[in-house]
Amino acid sequence: MDSNKNTPYPQKNILILGAGPAGLACAYGLMPKAYKITILEKENEVGGFAKTLEFKEDDLTFKTDIGPHRFFSQNKKLYQIAQDLLGTDWIDVNRQTRQYIDGKYYDYPIKPLQALKNIGLIKAVVIIFSYLRSFIIYKSLGRPINNFQDYIAANFGLALGRFNMLNYTEKIWGIPCSRLHADWAKQRIKGLNFITAISDSLFKRKKTKTLIDIFKYPRLGNGQLYKKMAAQIIDRGNEINFASQPLEIFHSQNRITKIITDVNGLMQEFNPEYLVSSIPIDQFLSILNPLPPPEILAAAAKLKWRDQIYLFITLNKNQVTDDNWIYFPNQNIPFARISEMKNFSQAMSPEGKTSLFIEFFTNQAETLWQSSDQDLFNLALNHLEKIGLITAKDVRNYYVFKKQKVYPVYDLNYPANLKIIKSYLNQLENFYYIGRPGRFQYNNQDHSLEMGLLAAQGIETDKKLNPDQIGNSDEYFENGKLNNNS
Ligand SMILES: Cc1cc2nc3c(=O)[nH]c(=O)nc-3n(C[C@H](O)[C@H](O)[C@H](O)COP(=O)(O)OP(=O)(O)OC[C@H]3O[C@@H](n4cnc5c(N)ncnc54)[C@H](O)[C@@H]3O)c2cc1C
Repeated sequence: MDSNKNTPYPQKNILILGAGPAGLACAYGLMPKAYKITILEKENEVGGFAKTLEFKEDDLTFKTDIGPHRFFSQNKKLYQIAQDLLGTDWIDVNRQTRQYIDGKYYDYPIKPLQALKNIGLIKAVVIIFSYLRSFIIYKSLGRPINNFQDYIAANFGLALGRFNMLNYTEKIWGIPCSRLHADWAKQRIKGLNFITAISDSLFKRKKTKTLIDIFKYPRLGNGQLYKKMAAQIIDRGNEINFASQPLEIFHSQNRITKIITDVNGLMQEFNPEYLVSSIPIDQFLSILNPLPPPEILAAAAKLKWRDQIYLFITLNKNQVTDDNWIYFPNQNIPFARISEMKNFSQAMSPEGKTSLFIEFFTNQAETLWQSSDQDLFNLALNHLEKIGLITAKDVRNYYVFKKQKVYPVYDLNYPANLKIIKSYLNQLENFYYIGRPGRFQYNNQDHSLEMGLLAAQGIETDKKLNPDQIGNSDEYFENGKLNNNS
């Protein structure tokens, strides 16, 4: 079926691939224009990695995000959109997050005085001297910052880095920090260093309430935001097709001409004025017809992704901790983070019950990926018991699920590979590629939303706008004042 035929109005047909935050925001931005918008989503729900899952046990419902989702943005417009969609369900959440290192809890972001007290005088002196040494090497003698480890050493000293950031980072990415690009640090911790961390802790945070202390959250889980967005998109006469995906994307003379798709089991042809993709960039390249030149496909094959295994445990217990989430940097603990969703919103668990969401970082090639659900549960339970968080008798049920291509890996070669892929894709005039998997960019939901809105603006004005600056500015993601409308 040709969805364009015999349709004098609306003026533009837009096909969007993926109904995560990026794809939905694009449709939401285009919505007032009464274009004909069709979204293809391969799963059966909207929200992508930012959705909320529900697990029913008899008459009880437990909800969880896929990993804890804290909304944070420098862009006030996004808060306004969420407020409009969610109304009183856009709640304030007091943040408490900690790290568990060598058997002790530390607040996160780290409070240097608490940390110094916990680690003892000798280690504290080592950390201070390590920072002074790094200061001389990197700042005075000008040693270049070639990778993530250099970045951490230059800003915090290696001893503090090893104690906290480097272990956790290696757990996330599965490669040594010396093989990770410093871009990752720039996106996550830019502006923070040993000195600012201490002065923030001693002075600034006492005076200013920041988004570190409170964040916004949809009462029924992060995915509520995207369900509401999708409902409005559909109400305006647009389509979101589930269990649907592109099979082949034809292009000629720098324009996308035809897309052959599988729409819920039926082959369908689209000839949109614009195509917007938020599906993984390497997958998109692989279904182009004609295929991109070999050097583009070779660069795409070199992009690496990190996979995750999730374990969700429902509990016959009112509460486990006061934390939203806890990080576990030590390598001898197999998971990286646990979250208690009830501490985001009471509506995430039935009364008197709670749950833990546990994240393992891995790859399909690793043995952990092959572990049975029972083995993963036993492994986690064993550690959770030792740490003193839960016991076997608290457990009601558990669920294991695995996701691929969760985190784009910023290895040392990724900028060069991505550059040549982008220079190829940027030639396609009636095409936008947006979002975290779509641009191979380690960004949060706010930046995917911004990219979707930017693509909508570009389509509306027929101007090719560039999403490159979104989420790539050097911003420290924990920063930002809590203002009235945020
Ligand atoms: C564990 C974890 C914790 C996180 N914590 C936070 C947080 O605290 N705060 C925050 O702001 N962000 C957080 N994020 C990041 C946030 O989830 C992402 O930034 C956001 O989901 C990206 O949106 P997106 O639309 O770009 O991509 P996705 O969410 O990946 O959406 C892409 C969509 O495309 C679909 N798709 C893929 N392939 C195809 C295909 N072939 N055909 C059709 N559809 C396809 C997918 O099913 C998906 O729905 C977290 C992510 C993870 C994994």
